[in-house]
Amino acid sequence: MSDQRPTKWTIAQHWDQDLTGREVFAPHLDIGNPCCFACGWFSERWTDGRSSRKAWERATLERAHIVPAGLDGPNAASNIILLCAPCHRESPDWDDPWEMAIWMSNRPERASKEMENVETWLRAVGDVPLFKVALREAATAGASAQGVVEVMRRYSRRAVVHAGELSQGTMTAVLRATARELLP
Ligand SMILES: [Zn+2]
Repeated sequence: MSDQRPTKWTIAQHWDQDLTGREVFAPHLDIGNPCCFACGWFSERWTDGRSSRKAWERATLERAHIVPAGLDGPNAASNIILLCAPCHRESPDWDDPWEMAIWMSNRPERASKEMENVETWLRAVGDVPLFKVALREAATAGASAQGVVEVMRRYSRRAVVHAGELSQGTMTAVLRATARELLP
């Protein structure tokens, strides 16, 4: 079965122009800055000087039916919203569109991809007290932050990356290896 759904850019434009519909089904929509309609999640790298059309097509957002195709929901932009993967996974598959509307209005906001990455690194640092010790010692010894980053980078490259992301567990391993190398 071929994919009959409109492009992400067509879907974004539809909701941008449907002023009443967007309040319900695209509360976070900003046509120049692609984001998940339900939680507002975005990445700074999607836009990056690109045209709006290119940015929406590049965004790792999924086309989600309001009324599922399997329940006779049409492949029209008016029945499709753009969601991040977790929102798509958790959104309702139901024949009454209001179920989706209610679900969206209760959806908590999510930080940007870049902020989430920083938060994950901070949690990983919390898991490795040795890294904090190593960092303090390195600072006392007059080492540059860049030097520490170089060591972290070397260990990061050794890690297996899932979907372009280091998991928190991998970050923990990188920090521990870095700490061991830095400490005398
Ligand atoms: Zn989302």
